[in-house]
Amino acid sequence: MQPTIIPRAQHAISRSNISNNALKVLYRLKGAGHMAFLVGGSVRDLLLGGQPKDFDVATDADPQQIRALFRNCRLVGRRFRLAHIRFGREIIEVATFRAAHTGVDDDRSVQDTTGRILRDNVYGSIEEDVWRRDFTANALYYNIADFSVWDYTSGVKDIKAGTLRLLGDPETRYREDPVRMLRAVRFAAKLGFELAPETAAPIGALSSQINDVPPARLFDECLKMFHCGHSARALELLFEYDLFGHLFPGTQDALRSDSGAGALLERGFANTDQRIAQDKPTTPMFSFAVLLWPEIRRLAAALESQQQLSAIAAINEACGEVVHRQLQRVSVPRRFTTPMREMLAMQPRFANRRGARALRFLGHRRFRAAYDFLLLRAECGEVDAETAQFWTDIQTASEAEQRKTFGARGHRGRRHRRGRSPRRAEQPSS
Ligand code: ATP
Ligand code: MG
Repeated sequence: MQPTIIPRAQHAISRSNISNNALKVLYRLKGAGHMAFLVGGSVRDLLLGGQPKDFDVATDADPQQIRALFRNCRLVGRRFRLAHIRFGREIIEVATFRAAHTGVDDDRSVQDTTGRILRDNVYGSIEEDVWRRDFTANALYYNIADFSVWDYTSGVKDIKAGTLRLLGDPETRYREDPVRMLRAVRFAAKLGFELAPETAAPIGALSSQINDVPPARLFDECLKMFHCGHSARALELLFEYDLFGHLFPGTQDALRSDSGAGALLERGFANTDQRIAQDKPTTPMFSFAVLLWPEIRRLAAALESQQQLSAIAAINEACGEVVHRQLQRVSVPRRFTTPMREMLAMQPRFANRRGARALRFLGHRRFRAAYDFLLLRAECGEVDAETAQFWTDIQTASEAEQRKTFGARGHRGRRHRRGRSPRRAEQPSS
């Protein structure tokens, strides 16, 4: 099959928008007599006038040939073997063209009984490589030999129309790799695209396939989805296509019994999107806190009333249990769950405005994060506005005023804690 070749004069991709390191890799491959293309999200984003976050290269050179050309090269991945060429902090991923699996049955290509692709290392030509990609918008190739764009799938037309269209038979493609359903949601949200009707149609019926995806891969995908700058829209689409409950079943239950809890998710995600738009830092621990809070809050309330636990003990126990259950689905690394649990377990402490403990609370190293979360809860009417205002005002008061307000004689936490072993402070609070 012949591609439509769009010459340099008829598209807007300029080398000045391509990373120098990616250009170096492309030119080196070409110089050695190989085909070399920029491919995937970078071509899509450049055509849309955006700044790609990374540059992927596709070539007819095999991994050994690639490695022979670059000193700074490492071969990675078992399921999908590719070369990482490292330039300081930037990594250019170089993949060899791949072919479909049909007829091959050896350790280069492995599919399970449900059609899932477990290994994908059968090399092929560009004509074959293109059909293994997910969406038409992600299947465009920018040729370094003459700066043209190769389009086998009408990807350019779909990009112009704002349509996200899965290649091939949608049901087969989702069964091969159920993460494609989540990618559909993420790209639709991020690019402001509509799913083509045939691409959207099977998702509802296949959504439970998500349950069989390894939790580590779901974490990676969640991270990209919730930090793509359009997470509020992605969340809507996850609900619309019945995907959300397979990622966060506990949260789904909590939302069913408490309709108000949905507002916290919407606002929390909108806050993250806004911060990204303003180039402010964001942390996954906050997104996961927002996602898990409705269930943690519900369980803590039950523990408090049924087992007569204190608010703080109840929240600690609920955090532990909910996080443990969630990790079976989405394996959020401990470096995020530990501060998240600490921050959430601090929420009941905002109710206490008297004494040395309240004063020390202000100096807690997670106070700021916990306070941001309190503000979010207040925006959603879960905490009264007066409480939020109190903790806003007290932060800018002088230390003497703080002591007076709290009726405390001690010092603020930071000073009080000096000399304590930092390792102890790192422990989760349960
Ligand atoms: P971004 O990097 O902006 O998130 P991207 O489109 O570059 O988007 P990557 O995950 O970097 O996405 O993948 C690069 C390319 O590899 C994609 O554009 C697509 O062509 C192909 N690809 C990635 N994941 C899959 C998949 N699960 N199934 C089929 N093709 C895929
Ligand atoms: Mg990419």
